[in-house]
Amino acid sequence: MNATKEPTFRESVDLMFNRAVALMDLPPGLEEKIRVCNATYTVRFGVRLRGQIHTFVGYRSVHSEHMEPVKGGIRYALAVNQDEVEALAALMTYKCALVEAPFGGSKGGLCVDPREWDEHEMERITRRFAYELAKRDLIHPSQNVPAPDMGTSEREMAWIADQYRRMNTTDINARACVTGKPLNAGGIAGRVEATGRGVQYALRDFFRHPEDIAAAGMEGTLDGKRVIVQGLGNVGFHAGKFLQEEDGARVTGIIEHDGALYNDEGLDVEAVRAWIIKHGGVTGFPDAAHTAEGNAVLEHDCDILIPAALEGVINMDNANRIKASLIIEAANGPVTAGADDILRKKGVVIIPDMYANAGGVTVSYFEWVKNLSHIRFGRMGRRQEEARHQLLIDELHKLDDHLGDAWTMSPDFKEEYLRGAGELELVRSGLDDTMRTAYRAMREVWHARDDVSDLRTAAYLVSIDKVAASYRALGL
Ligand code: NAD
Repeated sequence: MNATKEPTFRESVDLMFNRAVALMDLPPGLEEKIRVCNATYTVRFGVRLRGQIHTFVGYRSVHSEHMEPVKGGIRYALAVNQDEVEALAALMTYKCALVEAPFGGSKGGLCVDPREWDEHEMERITRRFAYELAKRDLIHPSQNVPAPDMGTSEREMAWIADQYRRMNTTDINARACVTGKPLNAGGIAGRVEATGRGVQYALRDFFRHPEDIAAAGMEGTLDGKRVIVQGLGNVGFHAGKFLQEEDGARVTGIIEHDGALYNDEGLDVEAVRAWIIKHGGVTGFPDAAHTAEGNAVLEHDCDILIPAALEGVINMDNANRIKASLIIEAANGPVTAGADDILRKKGVVIIPDMYANAGGVTVSYFEWVKNLSHIRFGRMGRRQEEARHQLLIDELHKLDDHLGDAWTMSPDFKEEYLRGAGELELVRSGLDDTMRTAYRAMREVWHARDDVSDLRTAAYLVSIDKVAASYRALGL
């Protein structure tokens, strides 16, 4: 790899931002105000574990407060560092603007390998980290609302919410201090799979536009398309599973931390996930070829490549060998700015991270609203909706009797039509609408402007425009 030329994650985000603002007409100084990260807080704290004090380093970065609260996940990984957290916080600003979630951008991280500690130890580490952030309002329902990211899940979010509540016993909105919580701790139906579901909805909308399919040198629908997924964690697993089960895509490769599996006939995503949970990796999985050289499988022949693990995996070293004609960035920053240039010239279409993985923050937004309104979505209207549908069904029954064999209701129609929307249906509907609206805003810029040749630049243009409008309206 050419280490001198490959930009860091943070530099990549800035380079992509700069490419877009060069095409805009922003007032002097505003461009820099939007680009820079407002503040990054570093904390070092000790936790007594296994008979000695262990010191942990954590970060919470606030990129832009043009809207509050600011929002962004908390990542647990040994490689977490300030550069990475700031890049991720910047992406959150652009992502929230693009999908019209009314938040500024933030991100957090803790240098820890969750696999090294047992559950009880992780709880103590997480509560201590949450305490450090909450006492500085870096966790707060109206100022800063974290969510899960790599290495964290519902479990950590429940601990964080409880820690905040203990510190703020009279705050009636305490549960809105973090999203991605379990249902029984103030979470929302459909949040766990939201990011993967969003990837699916993004691809579905892409495949509704023949012009876009042609731009990627493809034809047809998602049915039968060969997909390679990197990272079968929360995002990669759900995206792969839904695309396989509901859209007929064929997952031919799965890349994990200990190598990759491939099978041209298709892999059973659910079975691979179960294997990983039981054995800690993909090694030994039957019914597929295995290679320890996981990243080599990124270069296998396929239609759609879904990097859903780490940043920088498609870089100047391997970009030229990537064979997929469509890449959807389920992870944040999987394609470096250098690789982006190479792939664009090759005609590969990239659905950018700030859009592709926005399903998580979209459903987090719904969860936050649910927590503030203290009522589950659908609770007021569902039965009333069903009663009104019943009226129509009763009339159709009369018609059915009257027309005899000439007309009859389709077998499942009555049952499906009668069912009012519960929280899960409403969340899916809101997510689908958000992903479609944002995709259409991006593709319009992509196709309408001669100086925009890719979806990423289009995404930046749409989102920076919205952030700039906020700053103009609110003042700095
Ligand atoms: P996760 O921890 O649930 O899963 C990550 C997976 O990647 C794990 O299965 C891990 O074993 C695997 N992995 C680790 N190193 C790897 C390597 N070198 N090669 C291949 N696989 C490797 O994390 P996640 O929540 O699914 O997040 C994945 C990506 O999606 C991250 O970039 C994250 O920022 C982004 N993202 C997540 C969410 C969310 O809601 N969880 C939302 C938006 C974006």
